[in-house]
Amino acid sequence: MDIHFLSVIPEVFGPYVNASILGRAQAADLARFFAHDLRDWTHDRHRTVDDAPFGGGQGMLMKPEPFFEAVEAIRNSSEVPLTTIFLSPQGAPFTQAKAHELSGKPGLLLVSGRYEGMDERVFSLADEVVSLGDFVLTGGELAAMAVADATVRLIPGVLGNERSALEESFEDGLLECAQYTRPAEFRGMAVPDVLLSGDHGKVDEWRRRNALERTRRFRPDLLEAVSGEVSDRGR
Ligand code: SAM
Repeated sequence: MDIHFLSVIPEVFGPYVNASILGRAQAADLARFFAHDLRDWTHDRHRTVDDAPFGGGQGMLMKPEPFFEAVEAIRNSSEVPLTTIFLSPQGAPFTQAKAHELSGKPGLLLVSGRYEGMDERVFSLADEVVSLGDFVLTGGELAAMAVADATVRLIPGVLGNERSALEESFEDGLLECAQYTRPAEFRGMAVPDVLLSGDHGKVDEWRRRNALERTRRFRPDLLEAVSGEVSDRGR
């Protein structure tokens, strides 16, 4: 999969995508990353990407022209079709289901804004607008990297153990169960006996029950979503 980042600070992407699992995905030819500087599509001496908002108001907005030129140029020169995703707090909340959907695409173009945001007309370039959550970041770069990270790790072959991705939180609508490693007892906190028992049936049963209990405790909204689906199907 090809992932293109478009931003006014393209230098922030390299250190993250070249490390650890995303770095390994590149070494294995399962992912390629390209970081583009939006200012390369400006035509003035100061490489200006922002301007004052019509109607007044605080701060500066990102101009439409560089985005249109950049997105069109990147799409036209790409070896694979690109799904263009704009990062915005006003987009659809990013989810594990969306990461699965994107992991099947040949290429993504992830577009980040800065300042007070972007001229509304740039969103006509978007196949999708995605938000990382209900908070405001100073720029879209962290959100773009989060989308890239969650997506690339789902490409078959990127993680050593494909099953581990399927057992993670949100895959079946629940949080993953509590997990422990050695030592079996640490500062008075003991690992549940059943996990040391070697009885796989009992371990599986404990994990299912624990996942349900934690979801009820930490994210009851997820259970409401699951039971809503079940009652919808019953209609
Ligand atoms: N004025 C905008 C608003 O209230 O909707 C927020 C602009 S924000 C300071 C600047 C840029 O950061 C946005 O254009 C977007 O690319 C990015 N950004 C901020 N919060 C985000 C979020 N929760 N998810 C995705 N991108 C975000």
